[in-house]
Amino acid sequence: MLKKRDLTQYPLIDTSSNLDKNLVVGIIGDGQLGRMLVLAAARLGVKCRIYSSNCQGCAISVADNVIQGCFTDFANLDEFANGVDVITYESENISLPAVKHLSKKYAVYPPAHALEISQDRLAEKKFLKSLDVNVTAFQAVSSEADFLAAVQRIGTPSILKTRFLGYDGKGQVELTANSELSATYSRLSGSPAILEKKVDFEYEISVILVRGLNSLTSRVYKEKIYDIPANTHEKGILKRSIVPAPIDDNIRLEAKAIACKIANALNYVGILAVELFVVRCGKQAKLLVNEISPRVHNTGHWTMDACVVDQFENHIRAILGWPIGNTDRYVDVEMVNILGSEIYQLQSFLPQSKSCIHLYGKETVSPLRKMGHINKIKSFS
Ligand code: AMP
Repeated sequence: MLKKRDLTQYPLIDTSSNLDKNLVVGIIGDGQLGRMLVLAAARLGVKCRIYSSNCQGCAISVADNVIQGCFTDFANLDEFANGVDVITYESENISLPAVKHLSKKYAVYPPAHALEISQDRLAEKKFLKSLDVNVTAFQAVSSEADFLAAVQRIGTPSILKTRFLGYDGKGQVELTANSELSATYSRLSGSPAILEKKVDFEYEISVILVRGLNSLTSRVYKEKIYDIPANTHEKGILKRSIVPAPIDDNIRLEAKAIACKIANALNYVGILAVELFVVRCGKQAKLLVNEISPRVHNTGHWTMDACVVDQFENHIRAILGWPIGNTDRYVDVEMVNILGSEIYQLQSFLPQSKSCIHLYGKETVSPLRKMGHINKIKSFS
């Protein structure tokens, strides 16, 4: 288990004098989350340099500066880091050794140990359990024999998930009472995995939390939390987030308390997303954490049009050591992802007067690819 790091270990940037500098944020990754970070930074007069492996992502066209390179080329990574004030990343599926290398010499937020935990579903579950946070029943699987033993213990329905590099439902196989076990196991080609009990949830919700410095001069870290959305997925991919989620206030408070506990344990800086299942037990509801993401998150895109300061700006503020902006929501809102060929229906979305449309400018369309999102404003609170 990773040790809790002392705050003094962080190379804090000088928050009292950096407001008037020409600041540059380095972003590892060039997808839509990077693009929206660049656009938010630009509103604050902050430039962004992107590190990209193939320069084909949609953040490239809006970035001030791009360095192309692979994650094993540490000299190139150093060149990227020289001249930037702080480094962040937009995906958890990036090279941990590269981030650890950069963290030795430069300010990198969120901290590398948060990335390390979120990259490995087994480490993530163990970390959550160490904090007394509830998760679904799980067991590590590193061989077919392990798998058979895990099925015996956990039963069905359950989900076999790769430990590493899974996202948007990729690297997952569902298991029912009728599944042929050997064939199910071979679908992950022997990758290290975990078997999870499938949760019969009432809602999926997420907490988007931002943690950063309290004020320009203080070294005290403080978190702010956005209102909680209810999220629905199709084929493992987020389709919509509705805010506010139709959940009881005590569940709302408990979910926020869980996210704070996680952020504090990680000495976190930046936006953190915590995805949870709400499970009904008679009149009571219970929360299980599904996963954590140390980055800006798709279930926080509604904040762009419904909150005083959105998740992208708050991430930039937090990593620069600036005061965190107000996270209050002033409208009810529904965020809908535009997936794959739905982009061709743009003509029908555009005239909707209460719809704020965000397109990522991706040049190729493929099934279920995230092409943009719409924030549908519902009512003014
Ligand atoms: P993940 O990649 O783990 O976030 O999974 C993607 C989606 O699959 C989640 O948002 C859920 O809708 C569903 N899912 C994942 N794990 C479970 C589980 N243990 N029980 C029920 N649904 C799950």
